[in-house]
Amino acid sequence: MHWNVGRVKITKIVELETIGSTRFILPQAGNEEIRKLRWLIPRFATPEGRLKMSIHALVVETPTRRIVVDTGLGNDKQGRAIPAWNDRHGPFLEDLTAAGFPPDSIDTVLCTHLHVDHIGWNTRLVAGRWVPTFEKARYLFGANEYAYWRDHSTAPDKAAIFSDSVAPIIEAGRADLLASDARICEEITLIPTPGHSPGHMSLHVRSAGEEGLLTGDVAHHPCQMAHLDWSSTADSDPAQSAATRRELFSRFADRPVLVIGGHFDAGHIQRDGEAFKFTVAGH
Ligand SMILES: [Zn+2]
Repeated sequence: MHWNVGRVKITKIVELETIGSTRFILPQAGNEEIRKLRWLIPRFATPEGRLKMSIHALVVETPTRRIVVDTGLGNDKQGRAIPAWNDRHGPFLEDLTAAGFPPDSIDTVLCTHLHVDHIGWNTRLVAGRWVPTFEKARYLFGANEYAYWRDHSTAPDKAAIFSDSVAPIIEAGRADLLASDARICEEITLIPTPGHSPGHMSLHVRSAGEEGLLTGDVAHHPCQMAHLDWSSTADSDPAQSAATRRELFSRFADRPVLVIGGHFDAGHIQRDGEAFKFTVAGH
């Protein structure tokens, strides 16, 4: 699945797709509430009102760079709080390669934030050691985000996540720590979008007069465009995350900007009364 923004091509590589299980991540998004948002169905929710979500990486190709944005869960990881995220043996790298992107062809890895489902494939297990999966890539982490998790990964699951998916990149000398508004290349600039995590960042893509926005986890699901105050249980600062949603969606609404989420497909943001709705790209 891919989209173009000017001369930039964006390809989604899915690691895991889920339907439902919303009480865990978005407790307010009950089936009945979701069924009221008709525009979500069928692309973003089932007729019964269950949310469709995915864990995926986005490969962003510019004329000069080949960037992987967010790296999913990874294989062989242990100590995750969600049992199904432990000891995975999925075909993500094979799928990435089959799509035309062997790991050694990637020059940049960019993590919108350092949560478990965005950094897993940063590393893979080789002979009992965690090594960088993308051996020729520089890994770009937000400096604020990195500093936060370096100092706050004390709970056992957080410690495991940091030590198998972040620390090995730092130790291998492959990481660059960035300001949250850094320019990555001619076509891509970061936008600071705190709230889901302290140093969360989104990507603004501009090429040949066209625009795209990779939101990361500013919203986990488009239902949060209609209900800006529906914060996820994973948000570090729910009030800030709601404020960030209003600010970011206001900036990009009612314009031909291709928007792709950290866990949902591409569309366009439209104003809808006091809030917003999301319409599928190309429709
Ligand atoms: Zn996420």
